[in-house]
Amino acid sequence: MDKWNESLAKQLQNTLDEDQLTQCMRCGFCLPACPTYRETGFEGASPRGRIALMKAVYDGQIKPDQNFINQIDLCLGCRACEPACPAGVPYGQLLEQTRAAIHQERPGSKKSHILQQILLRDVISHPRRLKALGSLLRLYQRSGMPKWINKVPLYRLLPEPVREMERILPDVESPAFSPGTRVYPSSGKKSGRVGLFLGCVMDVLFNRTHRNTIRLLTSAGYEVVVPGGQNCCGALHAHAGDREQAIRLAKQNIQAFAGAKVDFICSNAGGCGAMLAEYAELFKEEPNWREQALEFQRKVKDVSELILEQADSGLITFSADRHQRITYQDSCHLINGMRVFAPRTLLKQVKNTTFVELKEANRCCGSAGIYNLLQTEMANRLLDEKMNHVKNTQADLLITSNPGCFLQMALGVKRAGLQKQIKVMHLADFLASTLQPGAKKQKHPS
Ligand code: SF4
Ligand code: SF4
Repeated sequence: MDKWNESLAKQLQNTLDEDQLTQCMRCGFCLPACPTYRETGFEGASPRGRIALMKAVYDGQIKPDQNFINQIDLCLGCRACEPACPAGVPYGQLLEQTRAAIHQERPGSKKSHILQQILLRDVISHPRRLKALGSLLRLYQRSGMPKWINKVPLYRLLPEPVREMERILPDVESPAFSPGTRVYPSSGKKSGRVGLFLGCVMDVLFNRTHRNTIRLLTSAGYEVVVPGGQNCCGALHAHAGDREQAIRLAKQNIQAFAGAKVDFICSNAGGCGAMLAEYAELFKEEPNWREQALEFQRKVKDVSELILEQADSGLITFSADRHQRITYQDSCHLINGMRVFAPRTLLKQVKNTTFVELKEANRCCGSAGIYNLLQTEMANRLLDEKMNHVKNTQADLLITSNPGCFLQMALGVKRAGLQKQIKVMHLADFLASTLQPGAKKQKHPS
């Protein structure tokens, strides 16, 4: 047996939570919900199979080999198995514990994982570097270079998934927020103070969505604060097993929002929101931080929840300029992690639209953080199947509530040749485009 086998087995025995592992009663109710099981039909690629593998390593019955690692790598981390589980097994936590152990003891120096390390530690965790990259991207997009870049030999050396992603990046319309705290007053009677969480990629590529989120929230009666000093939520790091860096980022965010004195912490990205709402999980061994993390996570809300509350009371209304057929792709972490169902309810309230349900909308699209770059074959299989369902809706607009889903949907639309029929939009951008300015005055004339 190799040395790394033994070290990984020890790491897993130290990291895995025995109570959580033994919660699984092997009923198999989660199997139909699992995309990788449905695609492969292989028990080892199912939640039950993966938990059984973890348990067997924990009990010392098997040694974790490359096949074990492959099955863990193939998992999307979509958590669709959690709501399907009658025993309430926190699969997402078991997965992160396993990935944390693999992160420590991964054999060899796989190129893709070195690149992942550089991307997550040296780029994503540094708002200034990200901002500089965003400015360069904006310059590049405006220079006209994207039209002829594929003729450059160096560009053609990039892996195909990276080139595909480059082609579907949204236009960077406005630069990321500059450091320092900003406050936006509510446009009427104040109903609460909301801190907006910016995230990493979201702030750089989707800054327009942040500005639309602020417009929605202030129209809904919230005062909005964008606290300075915040950083990436750490979800990508935790999912990749880099718990140490995830903890560092979580501490930075807890401190940044503690000084902002907000009633709610608003996220407009399902992946970030689910991470923020489970920060306490990172601090099992640090009781002081755990207390602060609990206080922080109690305030976390998705933008759709905050808006729905005010839309239900008639404070804001939505109506499209022209009739549109709309459909919605769930963000896995919003629906399976945060268990938020508000986007659909809100979309059904937009006048002059027809909401068409997308078949298997709650099934992962294959984006899953950077899964589509690391496990491209499986990601594309899931995406192409998703696009068949999208086509059947005959919708004009495909709406999502997470930047990763947005990019993956845009890629899928391109792969399926549907660019002329269907446009991909973030929920906040769509709602802001249909916001009725008079609604507030009509309902609250005083
Ligand atoms: S997280 Fe998703 S891919 Fe992984 S086991 Fe659960 S359902 Fe399957
Ligand atoms: S549904 Fe839950 S208890 Fe049943 S096999 Fe899946 S993880 Fe285990």
